[in-house]
Amino acid sequence: TMLVAFSFSGIAELWADFMRASGAAERVFELLDRRPAIGAGGEQLTDLRGHVRFRGVHFAYPTRPDVPVLQGLDLELRPGEVVAVVGPSGAGKSTLASLLSRFYDPRAGEVLLDGHPLTALEPEWLRRNIGMVAQEPQLFSCSIADNIRYGRPDATDAQVEEAARAANAHAYIERFPDGYNTQVGERGVQLSGGQKQRVAIARAVLKDPRLLILDEATSALDAESEHLVKDALERLMKGRTTLIIAHRLSTVANADRVLVLDGGAVIQSGTHASLMSQEGLYRRLVERQFVAA
Ligand code: ATP
Repeated sequence: TMLVAFSFSGIAELWADFMRASGAAERVFELLDRRPAIGAGGEQLTDLRGHVRFRGVHFAYPTRPDVPVLQGLDLELRPGEVVAVVGPSGAGKSTLASLLSRFYDPRAGEVLLDGHPLTALEPEWLRRNIGMVAQEPQLFSCSIADNIRYGRPDATDAQVEEAARAANAHAYIERFPDGYNTQVGERGVQLSGGQKQRVAIARAVLKDPRLLILDEATSALDAESEHLVKDALERLMKGRTTLIIAHRLSTVANADRVLVLDGGAVIQSGTHASLMSQEGLYRRLVERQFVAA
């Protein structure tokens, strides 16, 4: 990288010389000053409470600008609240997670964190405060310890182990001959879906974020793994604002609140029990889709 940085700065100097010579330096600096839509810079909040609000959010993916995904969506996650989002496939559940992490910005409306528009916050700081457990967590081709440490690069071995214990991963890791040094990924040991999820949970435990996004696995884990994952997640969610993209009845039944997403907006909101007592999409979804879970 030294070499690359060196040659880039070399080119930049040549370019600047050239532009100066041609009398256009000011225009170049104007261009350099322009930030990409989601660039560095912005505020960091102290004492983050974890209050999230989507207000009148409209969104379409840049590659498909004519296909509206969210159309005036409003939602609120109170600090520490566990909210499950359900809805038909393609309703925009994962899109909510992408907007909250600021991989994209709304086309209209805004997403607020503790009352501050996400666009005013430093993206890196924001992502440091969001933990993510994906359906199919991607592990890097390195040791299990380093995969967990990705959540907090300066963590000690003892902290990595403590996180693994909280994630119900310590016991299986210790059963490998190389323990925490076991290589995983392409050329290493293949972990099961449930084992990978527990590595991702351990990462999130180490990271200790105010906000959590859980994308629940659609495919069933074996019964033991299922229980260990669920138990670890419950511990992880405690006291954190959590958005779960839910696929299981037991998850929605335990959430503080359920939001039903359809047609780019939240069409129902309430506890599982209250939503089950009404006619509507939620009850149909539960009867149809969750019946096997
Ligand atoms: P599922 O339950 O099937 O995962 P979902 O509710 O999470 O669906 P999203 O993944 O948020 O739905 O997708 C919402 C809409 O946006 C869909 O029509 C989808 O095809 C589209 N979409 C998702 N990601 C992209 C992308 N990167 N580029 C373009 N369109 C996308």
